[in-house]
Amino acid sequence: MTRAGALLLILCAIAFWGAVAVHSLVKDRSPSVEPLPEYEQLESVDSADLDESSGQLKAGRSGKWRSVRAEHLKVQPRCLACDSTENLNVHHLIPFPVDPDRENDPSNLATFCRDHHYGIAHDPDGDGPEKPSWSAYNKNAVDDAFKYRRKHNLPEYTYGGK
Ligand SMILES: [Zn+2]
Repeated sequence: MTRAGALLLILCAIAFWGAVAVHSLVKDRSPSVEPLPEYEQLESVDSADLDESSGQLKAGRSGKWRSVRAEHLKVQPRCLACDSTENLNVHHLIPFPVDPDRENDPSNLATFCRDHHYGIAHDPDGDGPEKPSWSAYNKNAVDDAFKYRRKHNLPEYTYGGK
Protein backbone atom coordinates (compact mmCIF):
# COMPACT_ATOMS: atom_id res chain seq x y z
CA MET A 1 0.00 0.00 0.00
CA THR A 2 1.25 3.48 -0.82
CA ARG A 3 1.77 6.06 1.87
CA ALA A 4 -1.12 8.17 0.48
CA GLY A 5 -3.37 5.09 0.50
CA ALA A 6 -2.56 4.35 4.16
CA LEU A 7 -3.19 7.97 5.10
CA LEU A 8 -6.55 7.91 3.31
CA LEU A 9 -7.50 4.71 5.14
CA ILE A 10 -6.65 6.32 8.51
CA LEU A 11 -8.67 9.45 7.67
CA CYS A 12 -11.66 7.31 6.67
CA ALA A 13 -11.48 5.41 9.96
CA ILE A 14 -11.35 8.69 11.93
CA ALA A 15 -14.35 10.07 10.02
CA PHE A 16 -16.33 6.86 10.58
CA TRP A 17 -15.76 6.69 14.34
CA GLY A 18 -16.38 10.43 14.60
CA ALA A 19 -19.77 9.96 12.98
CA VAL A 20 -20.58 7.03 15.30
CA ALA A 21 -19.65 9.14 18.36
CA VAL A 22 -21.78 12.11 17.21
CA HIS A 23 -24.72 9.82 16.48
CA SER A 24 -24.65 8.24 19.96
CA LEU A 25 -24.43 11.70 21.57
CA VAL A 26 -27.50 12.89 19.67
CA LYS A 27 -29.39 9.67 20.48
CA ASP A 28 -28.76 10.01 24.23
CA ARG A 29 -30.14 13.53 24.47
CA SER A 30 -33.56 14.40 25.91
CA PRO A 31 -36.39 12.35 24.40
CA SER A 32 -38.11 15.55 23.19
CA VAL A 33 -36.12 15.67 19.96
CA GLU A 34 -38.94 14.59 17.65
CA PRO A 35 -40.82 17.68 16.41
CA LEU A 36 -44.54 17.96 17.23
CA PRO A 37 -46.87 16.79 14.44
CA GLU A 38 -49.10 19.53 13.08
CA TYR A 39 -52.32 18.29 14.74
CA GLU A 40 -50.55 18.62 18.13
CA GLN A 41 -49.31 22.17 17.54
CA LEU A 42 -52.13 23.87 19.39
CA GLU A 43 -50.69 24.23 22.86
CA SER A 44 -48.92 27.54 22.65
CA VAL A 45 -50.73 29.27 19.80
CA ASP A 46 -53.33 32.03 19.78
CA SER A 47 -56.56 32.72 17.94
CA ALA A 48 -54.57 33.61 14.82
CA ASP A 49 -54.65 29.89 14.07
CA LEU A 50 -58.43 29.86 13.71
CA ASP A 51 -59.65 29.88 10.12
CA GLU A 52 -62.64 32.24 10.36
CA SER A 53 -64.50 30.82 7.36
CA SER A 54 -64.33 27.14 8.34
CA GLY A 55 -64.19 27.63 12.13
CA GLN A 56 -61.34 25.07 12.14
CA LEU A 57 -57.85 25.11 13.56
CA LYS A 58 -54.67 23.61 12.09
CA ALA A 59 -54.77 20.14 10.55
CA GLY A 60 -58.53 19.77 10.84
CA ARG A 61 -58.73 20.43 14.57
CA SER A 62 -62.00 21.88 15.86
CA GLY A 63 -62.39 25.60 16.59
CA LYS A 64 -63.91 24.59 19.96
CA TRP A 65 -60.62 23.08 21.10
CA ARG A 66 -59.30 26.28 22.67
CA SER A 67 -62.25 26.63 25.06
CA VAL A 68 -62.41 22.86 25.76
CA ARG A 69 -58.71 22.97 26.61
CA ALA A 70 -59.15 25.98 28.92
CA GLU A 71 -62.02 24.23 30.79
CA HIS A 72 -59.93 21.08 31.15
CA LEU A 73 -57.03 23.06 32.63
CA LYS A 74 -59.33 24.34 35.39
CA VAL A 75 -59.84 20.71 36.47
CA GLN A 76 -56.29 19.47 35.83
CA PRO A 77 -54.11 22.58 36.16
CA ARG A 78 -50.81 20.75 36.63
CA CYS A 79 -48.88 17.93 34.96
CA LEU A 80 -50.38 14.62 36.13
CA ALA A 81 -46.87 13.25 36.61
CA CYS A 82 -44.70 16.03 38.07
CA ASP A 83 -47.14 18.86 39.10
CA SER A 84 -45.43 21.33 36.76
CA THR A 85 -47.50 24.30 35.61
CA GLU A 86 -44.99 25.23 32.88
CA ASN A 87 -45.33 24.33 29.19
CA LEU A 88 -48.56 22.42 29.75
CA ASN A 89 -50.00 20.27 26.99
CA VAL A 90 -53.51 18.86 27.06
CA HIS A 91 -53.05 15.29 25.84
CA HIS A 92 -55.67 13.17 24.08
CA LEU A 93 -55.64 9.73 25.71
CA ILE A 94 -57.00 8.36 22.43
CA PRO A 95 -55.07 10.56 19.95
CA PHE A 96 -56.86 12.85 17.51
CA PRO A 97 -55.80 10.88 14.38
CA VAL A 98 -57.07 7.62 15.97
CA ASP A 99 -60.51 8.97 16.94
CA PRO A 100 -61.23 12.56 15.83
CA ASP A 101 -64.72 12.31 17.39
CA ARG A 102 -63.14 12.35 20.85
CA GLU A 103 -61.15 15.54 20.25
CA ASN A 104 -63.34 17.60 22.59
CA ASP A 105 -64.48 14.80 24.93
CA PRO A 106 -63.43 15.89 28.46
CA SER A 107 -62.97 12.25 29.54
CA ASN A 108 -60.37 11.83 26.78
CA LEU A 109 -58.08 14.62 28.07
CA ALA A 110 -55.12 14.59 30.45
CA THR A 111 -52.69 17.38 31.40
CA PHE A 112 -48.97 16.79 30.97
CA CYS A 113 -45.94 19.09 30.89
CA ARG A 114 -44.21 19.09 27.52
CA ASP A 115 -41.59 16.52 28.62
CA HIS A 116 -44.05 14.07 30.17
CA HIS A 117 -46.51 14.52 27.30
CA TYR A 118 -43.86 12.97 25.09
CA GLY A 119 -41.97 10.85 27.62
CA ILE A 120 -44.99 9.22 29.32
CA ALA A 121 -48.16 9.80 27.28
CA HIS A 122 -46.53 8.99 23.94
CA ASP A 123 -44.35 6.14 25.22
CA PRO A 124 -46.22 3.05 24.01
CA ASP A 125 -44.95 0.71 26.73
CA GLY A 126 -44.32 3.00 29.70
CA ASP A 127 -41.14 1.79 31.42
CA GLY A 128 -40.54 -0.82 28.69
CA PRO A 129 -37.81 -0.75 26.05
CA GLU A 130 -39.79 1.05 23.33
CA LYS A 131 -38.96 4.73 22.76
CA PRO A 132 -41.62 7.47 22.85
CA SER A 133 -42.97 8.68 19.53
CA TRP A 134 -45.67 11.18 18.56
CA SER A 135 -47.15 8.52 16.29
CA ALA A 136 -47.53 6.09 19.22
CA TYR A 137 -49.49 6.47 22.45
CA ASN A 138 -49.55 4.97 25.92
CA LYS A 139 -52.85 3.24 26.71
CA ASN A 140 -51.95 3.51 30.42
CA ALA A 141 -50.82 7.15 30.35
CA VAL A 142 -52.71 8.21 33.50
CA ASP A 143 -51.69 5.10 35.48
CA ASP A 144 -48.08 5.58 34.38
CA ALA A 145 -48.20 9.26 35.42
CA PHE A 146 -49.37 8.18 38.88
CA LYS A 147 -46.68 5.48 38.93
CA TYR A 148 -44.13 8.25 38.24
CA ARG A 149 -45.53 10.23 41.21
CA ARG A 150 -45.13 7.26 43.57
CA LYS A 151 -41.60 6.60 42.29
CA HIS A 152 -40.66 10.26 43.01
CA ASN A 153 -42.52 10.42 46.35
CA LEU A 154 -44.98 13.04 45.13
CA PRO A 155 -48.31 13.33 46.97
CA GLU A 156 -51.53 12.14 45.34
CA TYR A 157 -52.67 14.43 42.51
CA THR A 158 -55.22 17.05 43.56
CA TYR A 159 -57.72 18.13 40.94
CA GLY A 160 -58.97 21.69 40.51
CA GLY A 161 -56.02 23.51 42.08
CA LYS A 162 -53.75 23.08 45.08
ZN1 LIG B 1 -44.46 16.65 33.99
